[in-house]
Amino acid sequence: MQNNENKLMKIQYEYDNQEYIIINRCPHCNLDIHPTVQSQYSFENNNYKVSALSLTCPSCKRDYFIFNDFREDTIGLERFIISNPKYGFSENALVKNTSKKFQSLYMQSINSELLGHLDIAFFGYVKSLEILIKEIATVQHPESEDVILFSNLISCLEQFHATNMHLFSKKLLEILKNDYLFYYKTEDYEASSELVKDCINYFLLYLELLLKTFSLNNQTKSEKPSK
Ligand SMILES: [Zn+2]
Repeated sequence: MQNNENKLMKIQYEYDNQEYIIINRCPHCNLDIHPTVQSQYSFENNNYKVSALSLTCPSCKRDYFIFNDFREDTIGLERFIISNPKYGFSENALVKNTSKKFQSLYMQSINSELLGHLDIAFFGYVKSLEILIKEIATVQHPESEDVILFSNLISCLEQFHATNMHLFSKKLLEILKNDYLFYYKTEDYEASSELVKDCINYFLLYLELLLKTFSLNNQTKSEKPSK
């Protein structure tokens, strides 16, 4: 599981005696960075006041914009409007192990959350987890691909990830079993989102380890005849 400080989140950022809300990761290279300001722009009309920071990532050296809403009644994290470009992590090693379908849905879910579309983000994360779990099950049981594809998330977990089930909290299983009901009935479904996101992070690491183990085992097999 990732520590809180490593997770993608909106953070406060001081510039020119003004408090901005930016994201703690570079939208290009996904590293946890403290960006430097290149320039600042403000736009205003009768109703709206928008500020843009042009930021540079100290690691990959690429630029990006963060837009903030500076109306008086907009406070805290609500100030964040959007980043340009959108957040992406095509260079993330763990995500590279997954299909383009997973990457696309997961990225859309993350960007929905950043834009404040929390309902879409919640269901996006649950579906992302389902795709990821099925992709891993298919790697481990290629002969059962059809069964895996047509199973639902829970039966896929029970049939093909039985050894991992003890890692799932009762609450997480309840969310996954009844995602709609849970969403509909529960106030703290944002906390539920966090559980699902942690679970995605866990399975991304698990997939990485699995693929490494496979390649090590294959090397050992191919080395044997020469001995
Ligand atoms: Zn960067």
